[in-house]
Amino acid sequence: MAEKGWLGADLVFDIDSDHIPTACQKVHDRWLCRNCGVAGRGPSPEMCPECGGARFDSKTWACDKCIESAKRETLKLTSMLLEDFGFSQDSVRVYFSGHRGYHVHVDDKGVHKLDSMARKEIVDYIIGLGLKARLHRIVDNHRIPLASDVEGGGWKRRIGFGIHKLVTASTPSELDSLGLSKPALKKLRETKEILQTSGESKWINVTDSGKSWEEIIDFVVSQQSSGIDTVVTTDIHRLIRLNGSLHGKTALMKVEVPLGGLDEFDPLKEAVAFKTGSLVVDVVEAPRFRLGDTSYGPYKDDSQVELPTAVALFLLCKNAAKVVKDSV
Ligand SMILES: [Zn+2]
Ligand SMILES: [Zn+2]
Repeated sequence: MAEKGWLGADLVFDIDSDHIPTACQKVHDRWLCRNCGVAGRGPSPEMCPECGGARFDSKTWACDKCIESAKRETLKLTSMLLEDFGFSQDSVRVYFSGHRGYHVHVDDKGVHKLDSMARKEIVDYIIGLGLKARLHRIVDNHRIPLASDVEGGGWKRRIGFGIHKLVTASTPSELDSLGLSKPALKKLRETKEILQTSGESKWINVTDSGKSWEEIIDFVVSQQSSGIDTVVTTDIHRLIRLNGSLHGKTALMKVEVPLGGLDEFDPLKEAVAFKTGSLVVDVVEAPRFRLGDTSYGPYKDDSQVELPTAVALFLLCKNAAKVVKDSV
């Protein structure tokens, strides 16, 4: 044991749709308090509303909307790794995790020896933590560059692009629903008008309204940052699932996604491992879900059904079904 030592670690990122709030979680996820048995829909609460307990059994599902939201976060991450950090296309690999999200591995000799603190710095950049617009020269001479493609790279470009997208792609009522303060909304509406009248204006003045713009920049940072699980990246001893292995909660494989092909990639098809045969199972309860080209369910009250092997194993791994002894 004394001769064992730490040689290094890839830089890894985990994006799990479970950590990205989506409206559909209220539809397909359930929780059950382990203490008092009270149940509810959506993600588990911090505290049981009935008994104050904090331990829950949860049943979570990843629908197409969940997978799509994880894809969006993954695309923002790979864009930063390639464009802002300058990693080569060969060193950045994207995988469907086999469950409900994506893993991104950076295999580059420049990262293998990075300690936990150094990895934390990378994480902070990616989630935009403590980002000061002034220090990134995002606000230059009291002006913010504003275009679909701002020169200079890094967060300066991402914020310029983010504000541009926000005002050009949102209707006035969509802007109103963002939860921003009235002065900030006023600034966005004015910016929208300027862009509509002057076309591709490159700058917006911020001299009189520093606070409102700070608020807008913070909001855009929250939109343009990537929702990674920060603990995974900073832990240099973590074992990460190997490509091709089966995930114990789904019986789906971890599979590589071609870089640049994420938009067209369908994990609920590509990650299916068991492609032949069928099994009879007792499905306790399941919302409607898709695997491959077919949708199944919803099921309730222990319905006995014959399903393709991959679907039956998927439900068994999720504890949503039980083996029917006679059928094995
Ligand atoms: Zn309870
Ligand atoms: Zn969903």
